[in-house]
Amino acid sequence: MLCETNKELDELVEEARKYTKDGQVADYIPALGKADPYDLSIAINYPDGRCVSAGDVQKRFTLQSTSKVISLALVLMDRGYDEVFEHVGMEPTGDPFNSIAKLEKMTPAKPLNPMINAGALVVTHMIKGNSVQERFDRLLSFIQQLANDASIGFSEEIAQSELETADLNRALCYFLKQHNRLNEEVEDLLNLYTKQCAIEMNCLHLARIGMVFAMDGMDPITSKQLMPKEVARICKTFMVTCGMYNASGEFAIKVGIPAKSGVAGGIMGAVPGKFGIGIFGPALDDKGNSIAGMKLLEMLSNDYQLSMF
Ligand code: GLU
Repeated sequence: MLCETNKELDELVEEARKYTKDGQVADYIPALGKADPYDLSIAINYPDGRCVSAGDVQKRFTLQSTSKVISLALVLMDRGYDEVFEHVGMEPTGDPFNSIAKLEKMTPAKPLNPMINAGALVVTHMIKGNSVQERFDRLLSFIQQLANDASIGFSEEIAQSELETADLNRALCYFLKQHNRLNEEVEDLLNLYTKQCAIEMNCLHLARIGMVFAMDGMDPITSKQLMPKEVARICKTFMVTCGMYNASGEFAIKVGIPAKSGVAGGIMGAVPGKFGIGIFGPALDDKGNSIAGMKLLEMLSNDYQLSMF
C-alpha cells in the first residue's frame, strides 16, 4: 500500500514518542515482551485512497484486543443482533479487560460487553463454522477483505505463547461454560481466540480497517459494503464506550473518537465519515493502552478538531 510520509505527522510522532519512556511493553504474553518500547508509528487512511503516515509503518504487530471489534462485526452478521446480545451485554464495566469480578455478580452470568475478555470469548465462540480452522479462516478472510490484503496472517509464536499462559482466560471460559454461555471445549475456543488475537498486520492495514468502520462498513475504494451500516454503527458505539479499556471515559473526553486498543500496542481509530487511523506503539500505560499512541491521538484531535462531541 502506498502511503506518503507527512511532516506535520512526523513532528507529532516525535513529540509523542517522548512518552514511551513512561510505559512498558506487555509481557504477560511472553512473546510480546520482545517489542521495542520506543516504536511509534501512525497511518491515516482516507476514503479516496489517500494515506499519510509517520514512523516505521511497515512494522507488524498482533491485533490482540483490536480484533474484538472485528470478531463482533462478523458475529453480528453471522447471528444477528438478538442472538448476540442474548449472550453478551452492552454496558461498560470500569474494570480491567481480564476481570472476572462482575461476571460472578450477575445472574445469569453474562459478560457486560464484547470488549472485555469474557465478552470477547463469548463472541468468538459464536463465529460460525464447522471446525476451529473453518471459523478462524472465516475471520481471517474477513480481516483480509477489510484491510484489502490477502497476505495478512497470524503469528504462530505469539498465539502459542498466549495459549501456554492464558490461564486467566481459561478460568473465564470454564466459568462461562459452567453457566451455559459456552458449549464447546475450552481448549478449542482458546485455540481460536489466541489465533484471532495473534493476527498480524501493520498500521497501514489497521488504518484501512478503521476507515471502513468510519465509512459505515463501505469500502469506498472497492465499492463493496463489507458489513451492514447497522453493524458498523454498533461496533463504533462499543469503541466509544469501552474501546480503550477502563480509560474509555477519559479518552472520550480527551480525544472523542471511536477507537480500540490492544495490548501489543495497536490502536484503531475510526473518525466517522472522515478517515481511519492505525497506530502502533507497544509501550503501554497502566490500563493497557499505548501510552504514546494515546498522547498522539490527543494531540491530533486537538490540532484538527476531531472530537465528535
Ligand atoms: N489476547 C489478549 C488477552 O486475551 C488480548 C488482550 C488485549 O489486547 O487487551 O489477554
